[in-house]
Amino acid sequence: MEYCVTTDQDGIVPVRNIYCIGRNYKKHAVELKNEIPRQPFFFQKSTPALNTSNEIILPENREIHYELEIVVLIGKAGESISISNAPKYIQGYALGLDLTDRNFQSELKQKKLPWLLSKSFRGSAVVSSFQTKEILSDFWLKINGDIRQKGKASQMIFSISKQIKYLSGMIPLTEGDLIFTGTPSGVGPLCKGDKLVLGIGSKTIHSLSIS
Ligand code: MG
Repeated sequence: MEYCVTTDQDGIVPVRNIYCIGRNYKKHAVELKNEIPRQPFFFQKSTPALNTSNEIILPENREIHYELEIVVLIGKAGESISISNAPKYIQGYALGLDLTDRNFQSELKQKKLPWLLSKSFRGSAVVSSFQTKEILSDFWLKINGDIRQKGKASQMIFSISKQIKYLSGMIPLTEGDLIFTGTPSGVGPLCKGDKLVLGIGSKTIHSLSIS
């Protein structure tokens, strides 16, 4: 079974790897009482966690937090990509949610264990359709009509191009890789019945209901 995302050119692209940067917005690092990183660090979500639907089904008895993020789709393979060449490897931009089992993640962090299992439950890698137009400014998440998170790429500690340079210097990137580029502050729990809207400027990009 292939896990795919859609693009604005009627394309369907199989997803290979899902990489996520941690603590890439200063205020978010602070809200979770973490230090501001001096170099980027990444974790992964499993590919079957991909969720392109308009529904999030919460796992039973777990507190799941939303993390709104710009997600980029890598369009061609590359290694040791320079900052100036990095944009050429981006096929599209989407908004997504890096859904997180926060209590479980905190437990794993305390034990110095990998975060994978707190980040990779079914449906936990939410992405909208990918567009070729850059999503860099004023993206937001509304829950039940209220803005809960907003940000812009200029607030990132490590820019998208820097992330591609760093990651591709350590791991060969492949066509169909996704990179979740970090969340601004304002993360919090989801509840059954919540209505989520993700957008940029005055435009709605994706909507979801929680069950
Ligand atoms: Mg995140």
